[in-house]
Amino acid sequence: MSKQDKQCACQDTQSSFLERAFERLHLEDAEQEMLLTSFREIQVSIPVVVHKNNKDCLITYKGYRVQHNHARGPFKGGLRYHPDINMGEMRALAQLMTWKSALVEIPFGGAKGGIAVDPESLSSSELEALTKRFVQKMAPLIGVHDDIPAPDVGTNPQVMAWILDEYSKTHGFRMPVVTGKPLELGGSEGRLEATGHGVAHLANKAAVEELELDPEQSGVVIQGFGNVGFHAAMRMEAMGYRVIAISDVTGGVFSEQGISIASAQRYIQNAGHLLGMPGVEAISNDELLMLPCEILIPAALEATITCDNASRIKAQLIVEGANMPITQGADSCLQERGILIIPDLLANAGGVLTSYYEWVQNLQQFPWDRETVLTRLENRLGRSYRDVRKRATEKDVDFRTAAYELAVSRVNQAIHLRGF
Ligand code: NAD
Repeated sequence: MSKQDKQCACQDTQSSFLERAFERLHLEDAEQEMLLTSFREIQVSIPVVVHKNNKDCLITYKGYRVQHNHARGPFKGGLRYHPDINMGEMRALAQLMTWKSALVEIPFGGAKGGIAVDPESLSSSELEALTKRFVQKMAPLIGVHDDIPAPDVGTNPQVMAWILDEYSKTHGFRMPVVTGKPLELGGSEGRLEATGHGVAHLANKAAVEELELDPEQSGVVIQGFGNVGFHAAMRMEAMGYRVIAISDVTGGVFSEQGISIASAQRYIQNAGHLLGMPGVEAISNDELLMLPCEILIPAALEATITCDNASRIKAQLIVEGANMPITQGADSCLQERGILIIPDLLANAGGVLTSYYEWVQNLQQFPWDRETVLTRLENRLGRSYRDVRKRATEKDVDFRTAAYELAVSRVNQAIHLRGF
């Protein structure tokens, strides 16, 4: 899918899910418009000198931040470093953050941002310079009670540490201004694995409670082996599932007996990618999606499951580790085929939940241990899961429609209560 097609797919997908919720909630046109419109959208230029082809060159990168809605609390959302990002994609992802925070009932709104850059193409000091110049431009807009960035694709705790450092130069040391930090700088125990842990927790819940699957007899396929995919794989394996296929951007690997996730991680740490991993069968990312399995976890990027491949998916359950991995057309096709989908705004909400826990710990200056964090995470996700399931049953709709209805009505109610 081209860059432009991907951008359109994200926006169309988000809009169609929202339209359905708006219609079913009988929202007026003016309310719909208000819920759809971003509070603020910013694009900045970030000139940085980088070393390329044996000489120093000045490159001007584009940085983005979309602050969608803050009716329920400060803007909150990840920062993505990826060459293909653009305002349309950031807008759709910022909206998704608003609904996600509302669904799991944390006092945040939604935002998303990033820089159009391939982080692998820069040295660590160049990446630091780029990040800090971005923060200089964003500093008036972010803040502990205003907008709190976090990691996403292409960023990590080190990038969050640079953000904290640059912001603190002008505002004094403000630990809760960013989450997903290294533990040494106020990061939370459990934050690194939180999203994947939550995805696996809900995958297991849906598999056992809705489909009555036996973990030991169930094969799991995971697309994307980054932060979310890797930690989801570790947790699924620990719960007794056979992870039969995993993939990264270089391709996938398959083993009917199950792949050792620790071995795959060791191989990636040395080789830098999954391609060429010994003792397993190499497959393409497209083949991976078609494998016979019980559970499929897309945990790479948006719009990887489309009308072109949805009809050939064989899983009984899809748990959206990534944001918006299924396009609107593919969603209809999968629903018609009776495949149960746990939607992104519920499935991967463990990330923002634990970011919230990190923010709370920083404000209280009282760190929690890992067990406390992960227990609270599982309890809160379990509660949201029950809310969604109850509404889906009562209204006779799918999980995604139920989740959107709950989230949108909470945000709409907050706007009305605050007044205009
Ligand atoms: P990451 O950069 O750590 O990992 C992404 C993985 O996907 C890598 O293994 C990459 O090689 C792979 N990949 C990229 N393109 C691919 C393709 N076309 N086919 C197969 N694999 C491909 O990113 P992440 O933090 O794990 O995020 C993954 C997804 O989860 C994103 O949609 C992100 O927005 C979402 N998400 C992340 C978090 C979080 O806490 N990190 C929270 C909520 C949602």
